[in-house]
Amino acid sequence: MIPVAMPNLEGNEKKYVNECIDTNWISSKGKFVKLFEEEFAKYCECDYATSCSNGTSALHLALMSLGIKKGDEVIIPNLTFATTANVVKYVGAKEVLCDVDKSTFNIDPEKIEALINEKTRAIIVVHLYGFPCEMDKINEIAKKHNLFLIEDAAEAHGALYGGKKAGALSDVACFSFFGNKIITTGEGGMITTNNPEIIEKVNILKNHGMVPGKGYYHEEVGYNYRLTNLQSAIGLAQLERIDYFIAKRKEIFSKYKSLLPNMIFQQDYEKGESSFWMVGIITNKREEIEKRLKENNIETRRGFYPLNQMPPYLDNRQFPNSEELYEKTLILPTFIDITKEQIEKICKIIKNEEH
Ligand SMILES: *Cc1c(COP(=O)(O)O)cnc(C)c1O
Repeated sequence: MIPVAMPNLEGNEKKYVNECIDTNWISSKGKFVKLFEEEFAKYCECDYATSCSNGTSALHLALMSLGIKKGDEVIIPNLTFATTANVVKYVGAKEVLCDVDKSTFNIDPEKIEALINEKTRAIIVVHLYGFPCEMDKINEIAKKHNLFLIEDAAEAHGALYGGKKAGALSDVACFSFFGNKIITTGEGGMITTNNPEIIEKVNILKNHGMVPGKGYYHEEVGYNYRLTNLQSAIGLAQLERIDYFIAKRKEIFSKYKSLLPNMIFQQDYEKGESSFWMVGIITNKREEIEKRLKENNIETRRGFYPLNQMPPYLDNRQFPNSEELYEKTLILPTFIDITKEQIEKICKIIKNEEH
């Protein structure tokens, strides 16, 4: 079977994990936690990075650190992994869905302002499949209306916009290190920002609400959202090879594109440079192609359901672009160890040239 995603753990992962075990530092204290955070901040060219248990807890912590609460509204794209909406509900706020752009799959900056009212506190943008959002325009809107801007960069480690890294394009950004992401720790997450107050709040909230240096003094209700030294050891080893991972993904995307010249692919904005988490094509023959690939033991996945069509987030307004993209998107195998021959085989099957 050719899968959609698969991690590559051939660097220092094993060596660093063994070091954790040999030294007994397997929980959320130990040198790799700090090292991974420091290196990740450096990589994103951000002042601060703090780790947490997964991408969802990263988003939850970000919203809490900004004081988003009941009665507030947060604008999010209608096409994303549902956790972007769930975290808004966790803090008691309301998610306000915005349609996406048909060619980039990302939140349509032209449709944001109509959704802003006196309750709006923040916008969460999602760099879908590694393709960065139109950040100049969205930052301008956020500034004009005095809103917080949050990046859900769970799929976009290393993506660039105007030469700046995802994670450094907003007030606070959130990453996931789930097994299929650009770099992985198994399960894990990271928050990046240039704002020291946000980092201070997040560090308290993720550690049971305990105030550093005050023993077991809890200033507020906190969570245990910490990343372990074992996971950080894997993360550090992955981060050492991220440039190679992204170069490979770029190569995979180009290869598909050159072999499928008549197919429509997800596109970057002019200032955007995707890190190509996944290769998505848009086709009227989605079902047919999906079936043919499956018969040949090739895994694909569909795009995300529009949030407005699912029970927790129902919304009767029209979202024509997200609805159309859901119908037509097919995600092709994009793991970094896929061979040239495998891509050629997949493209032949898509074009129905031979089996
Ligand atoms: C993977 C993902 C998340 C959540 O990450 P977890 O680590 O699985 O909690 C959040 N947002 C988007 C867009 C994702 O793809």
